[in-house]
Parts: sequence; structure tokens; C-alpha cells
Amino acid sequence: MKSKGIVYLVGAGPGDAGLLTVRGAELLAGADVVISDALVNPELLRLAPAGAEVIVRSQGDGGHPVSQEEIMELLVGRARDGKTVVRLKGGDPYVFGRGGEEAEELATAHIPFEVVPGVTSVTAVPNYAGIPLTHRDLCSSFHVITGHEQSEKGTPSVDWRAVARAPGTKVVLMGVKQIRHITSELIAGGLPAATPAAMIHRGTTGRQRTLVTTVGKLADEVEAQGFNAPAITVIGEVVRLRSKLDWFERRRLFGQRVVVTRTRDQASQLTRLLTGRGAEVLEIPTIRIEAPTNHGPLIESMAGLGEYDWLIFTSPNGVTKFFEYFFKAFDDVRALGMVRLAAVGPATAAKLKELHLRVDAMPEEFVAAKVAKAIGAVENVENLRLLCVRAEVGSPELVSKLEELGGIVDDVACYQTVPETEDRSGTAARMLAGGADWITFTSASTVQNFHARFDLPSLLEKFPALKTASIGPETTKALAALGLSPTIEARSHTLDGLVSAIEHHAVKA
Ligand code: SAH
Repeated sequence: MKSKGIVYLVGAGPGDAGLLTVRGAELLAGADVVISDALVNPELLRLAPAGAEVIVRSQGDGGHPVSQEEIMELLVGRARDGKTVVRLKGGDPYVFGRGGEEAEELATAHIPFEVVPGVTSVTAVPNYAGIPLTHRDLCSSFHVITGHEQSEKGTPSVDWRAVARAPGTKVVLMGVKQIRHITSELIAGGLPAATPAAMIHRGTTGRQRTLVTTVGKLADEVEAQGFNAPAITVIGEVVRLRSKLDWFERRRLFGQRVVVTRTRDQASQLTRLLTGRGAEVLEIPTIRIEAPTNHGPLIESMAGLGEYDWLIFTSPNGVTKFFEYFFKAFDDVRALGMVRLAAVGPATAAKLKELHLRVDAMPEEFVAAKVAKAIGAVENVENLRLLCVRAEVGSPELVSKLEELGGIVDDVACYQTVPETEDRSGTAARMLAGGADWITFTSASTVQNFHARFDLPSLLEKFPALKTASIGPETTKALAALGLSPTIEARSHTLDGLVSAIEHHAVKA
């Protein structure tokens, strides 16, 4: 018998992917079908399993045009097929989003459902603009109103003059087109024209724009600055607090759209560093890590592990993959013996540290000669046996430098990188359509693979403002091979160094 389907109406939050609830993330991870609205951050779709069916409802921006009736048919149909359906809705499902109507229809159709609240734009968007909705000294209530002038039956749905008489902060959703009518009615209802007002477009995202003025001037300003939906209007004395409390737009990388080209598994750390400083991140991995084409040499090296004096790791992936094989072959970490360990940089060393392994040598820079020198500083390499554990296509320099010092070197591949081609959340499409401020490259292979997928020189020609950031000399060399030089190269060749370099450039600009 088929298991019974269920629909979860899940609030996706106002835009910032970090504002999805833990419950929402958990349900996405178990979804068979995800049906999402246009305002929902597409990055959240990544939380769904790779095989899930994903339908994104568009608002005329190139996605899949789906009517409300079709949405209901899909929800009911998929649930009847026994599927676990996650219906992602912007903000909170029960705040102006037809969530109530959708839940009612599910109840009528006897489809099991649950509703997960979301962080609503009503509070989150003003917050990210530096505006608390209440404040003990200024007001003790707030009112949330839809700015759609007419109900579906064609009758005016809001008595703005009555709204004007209510004390407290006023938050207007969906009101951009009607703003002249709304503000003139509020003033006619007795609200002083000098009352502070703000409009916030695409709040909580890297594209947030905020306009601060008075109720009397709002409509003209909105027109002059070309504000459009989605936007929220906040009216009241609390708007003045923005000059002190605007924390979001002040972050150093606010407004910078940054492409992260690392593999999905590795991207998160760089993404966190960037979003933590206010950048909008587009994760477009161009490679995936897979087992090496031939793992014979690696298996052989496992069998003879006791004979090596040094294990040399050249990437965090190398560490992860090596130990995956290692623990398949051995059930005790002591099988590693007294071999000494070298890591080419802090990220690789950190991976080893996670396994409670101490690194015996680490060069100050990941350049083949310096790796050899760092090992040479610990002991004379002559006649020692060294195992380089790395990607399938590693540069030959490291091996030859060690051999020059008299070492006996085995070079084995413990993983290979293959091109990533999928674009489920449409992130690559968004970059190709709208460009970005930065592309970050964290290794030579990210350059080569990004180029293979997108033709880097022609992308830079198409978007002349697009800048490139390289983590270090090896990566810069890969750019040079394409006739390019990066806008910046990180001084310290780490993710932190890369982010600092972008920050410095952004602050100078
Ligand atoms: N259920 C949603 C609201 C849906 S109505 C919630 O709880 O947030 C859609 C309206 O919400 C938009 O027209 C706009 O007024 C507002 N809105 C939603 N997200 C927004 C954002 N990131 N920035 C500004 N306004 C937003």
C-alpha cells in the first residue's frame, strides 16, 4: 500500500536564506516535491534532496507560470500520490500569502497538512532597515495593512482615513503602486504629512534598498527613485531610529554580489564568511569531488603505509578522501604508525586537526618549493619515502622539488574533480542574466572548471564591472593561462585572506 501523502505549508522567511526555521530546513530535506513561490530565496531549494521534484512559481520572470488553481491541483494531486510535499511560501504562510486559503482547501480535500510559521517580512524587513516596529518611548502598537486597494470583488478594502486615526506604527505590504492614493488618504484622515516614512525594497537580501522620507513626500520619492515591488512601507516615529540602528546596510560587503565557485560541500565556509559581512552569495560550483578513475595505486599505498616517512596533503579534499579509504582498510587510527604529516596550508591542516592529528610541517605559502623547504626544515629529506596524496591531476612541481632534495616520492590520486553541470536553484542562470560584482577562485581547478562551463573571458567582456578574486599564486597562474589577471590576489592564501582582500577593495572603492 502506498504511504499517505502530506502537505507542509512552510514559511520560507523574507529573503535572507538564514531566516528559514530549523523545522523548515528539516522538512525540505525530506521532501519528495517542493512547490515554491517567486519571492522565496531560490538558494533554499538546495536543501531539498537531489531527486526531489521542484516547481518554482514565477511572476513573469522567466520561471514556470502556474496559476493558484494549478498550485492547488498540484498540492492535492501529489499528496494523493503518496508524496511528501513542501509548499514554500514567502515570509509567514498566514500573513497575506493565501496560506489560509490553501490550508482550507487541503482540509476540504481531506489531505493531511501541517503549517510551519516563517519569519515574516512584516517585522524582518523593517529590522534589516534599522527600524524596530515598537519602542517604549515612541509607540505601543503597530498595524499591518495590505496596500492592494481593491478586494477581488472590486470594493475598497481598506479605510485609510480610519487607519490614519489609529495610533502606532503602520506597516503597509504590497502598496507600491497605490502609494500616492494611500498617503494622500492618510493625510486626509489626519496623519501629519511630516510623519517619518520609509520604503524598503527586497529587504533582508543583498539587493535591499531603503528610502527614508515623510508621508507627504513618499509618493514623489518612490517615483523619482523608481521603487517597485516587493517593498514594505513603514510609517511612524520609529523610522527615525534607522540613523542609529541600521546594522545591515552598514556591513562591509553589503550590496556586493559574490560568486562562490567551490564544490557544494566546500562552499559553505566561504559562503558563511561572505554573507556574514553582508554580501549576497551565488554558489555556482563547477566541480564535484568523485573517486579517482583508478584507485589501485591508492589501495596499494594503504597496504604499504608503514613504509612512508611522510604523508603530504595538498588539499582538505585530499585529507577527507584519503581517510575515507584509510578507514575502509583499517579500523584503528594507529595503523597510520609514526608517519609524519605535512599540510600545504591552514585549511588542510585544520582538516587533519579535526581527526586529532598533529601537522609536522606546513609551509608559510602553498608553493611547491616552500612545501619542500618546510619538510626539509624538519629533517633531511634524502632517502626518505614520501607519499603525496592529492587530486588526479596535480602539478608535477611538488614531486620534482622533493626528488631534487633526494626524497623517494610516490604520488597517488585519492580523488578527481568532475564538472558540475546542474543548476537546480537557477543560480547560474541568474549570474548569466544579471552578472555579479565578484567571482572568487579558490584553486587553479576552480578557474579551469569555471572557464570550461562559462567561458570566463567572454563573461568578463559581457559584464565589464565583474571583478575576480584569486586566493593565491597557483590560482592566479591559472587565470594568467587564460590571458587574465585577477582584480585582487589574497595576501594570505586562505579563505579569510580572500574575504579580507575583497573587503579592502570594497572599502577603497
Ligand atoms: N507572507 C509574506 C507576505 C506575502 S505578501 C510575509 O509574511 O512576509 C507579499 C508582500 O510582502 C510584498 O508585496 C511586499 O510588500 C512584502 N514583502 C515580502 N518579502 C519582502 C521583502 N524581502 N522585501 C520587501 N517586501 C517584502
